[in-house]
Amino acid sequence: MKHTKSEQLFKEAEKYIPGGVNSPVRAFKSVGLAPIFADKAHGDRLIDVDGNEYIDYICSWGPLMLGHSPDFMSEGLEEMAKRGTSYGVATEIEIEVAKIIVDAYPAIDQVRMVNSGTEATMSALRVARGYTNRNKILKFEGCYHGHSDGLLVQSGSGTLTFGVPTSPGVPADVVKNTLVCRYNDMDDVRRVFEEQGDDIAAVIVETVSGNMGVVPGTQEFIQGLRDICNEYKTVLIFDEVITGFRLAYNSSIGYFGVEPDMVCFGKIIGAGMPVGAYGARKEIMSCVSPVGPVYQAGTLSGNPLAMFLGKKNLETLRDHKDIYSELDRKGKMLQEGIQNNLKKLGLDYTVNRAGSLVCLFFTSGPVQNFDDATKSDIDKFNAYFKEMLDRGILIAPSQYEAMFLSYAHTDEDIEYTIKCNYEALKASHNL
Ligand SMILES: *Cc1c(COP(=O)(O)O)cnc(C)c1O
Repeated sequence: MKHTKSEQLFKEAEKYIPGGVNSPVRAFKSVGLAPIFADKAHGDRLIDVDGNEYIDYICSWGPLMLGHSPDFMSEGLEEMAKRGTSYGVATEIEIEVAKIIVDAYPAIDQVRMVNSGTEATMSALRVARGYTNRNKILKFEGCYHGHSDGLLVQSGSGTLTFGVPTSPGVPADVVKNTLVCRYNDMDDVRRVFEEQGDDIAAVIVETVSGNMGVVPGTQEFIQGLRDICNEYKTVLIFDEVITGFRLAYNSSIGYFGVEPDMVCFGKIIGAGMPVGAYGARKEIMSCVSPVGPVYQAGTLSGNPLAMFLGKKNLETLRDHKDIYSELDRKGKMLQEGIQNNLKKLGLDYTVNRAGSLVCLFFTSGPVQNFDDATKSDIDKFNAYFKEMLDRGILIAPSQYEAMFLSYAHTDEDIEYTIKCNYEALKASHNL
């Protein structure tokens, strides 16, 4: 497989864009390759500028539940654009999308549109702090909530509960109010709440983490967070930027039967357009400007073209709930196929899955938190990634990402992927 044109574009891109990319994971740096440049995509296929065709499991990192550019998606888009691409005044379609989201998610009465997942979590945390009049927030190691200052933290060493910045440019002072606990570890959470629970405004969590590979929260953990937040009157925030409208139409509420106080959405609600949203009960959302004193704004928020595509995506999911059982079946097929291959090859690796999110960890399990995930053999993963790419299977160039299945992934393509997985594992392990 040749990547000549991608390599040329990468050289050119590097001159004008740091690292040649507008988001680091696109760089393929961790796997030691030049990144591929996309030309077009349809269904479960992505075609790069060299004409190579891949079965795509990156799928824009989650928004494309129905696969790339389903035909009905672009219908009417041109007319919409002709009427204006942004107004800076209110539009009716914003109400329509808000209503769809609120109707789907029983825990919330109102929702505010923003332009990315990062904005959604950052804004939700500000509102939670304003609402509770408390300072601290609690997050979990390995969960990603976008790149705002206060969330770029990892746990301090030993029993330190406050976070330390994971990036230069984030002052230690900014993250001193961010507490970090182990994922799926209620004892750790209880310990921190006993110390400082009265000043914890919010707990923010991915109910199924898709940012340390795929690590589902246990039922006990998610319910435990609900209970302790009730006890301390802390706002429980589900970051459903990946899981929202993916695990089920009612997202984590359907999957776990637990309701948060606030929710963040992104990815799927924009169908690939730059969109995020946060919502809560009216009592909490009444803190938000212009009703309340907590400031949050956005020139392009609720952009009409983004709302147009997001609405189509959400309506399709709402009106075709069989999509969820189909995605679950496909996820299971992929998981079991990989597990069979591992058994045949005598490899003691772990395959985690939640619905259509699948991850092969290059470590023996169970993988239940960040420490478990980082035991993975990254060199082996990198070799495996290259073998998959050569066979026309595009997975994330990182061990710590999910395989995103879409409704457009056919059984035939999943079977082919499983066959390639066998060969790629074999080749990368010299078996
Ligand atoms: C992708 C992601 C974000 C950040 O969304 P952006 O649109 O990239 O800013 C936040 N939370 C989770 C769980 C995500 O996966």
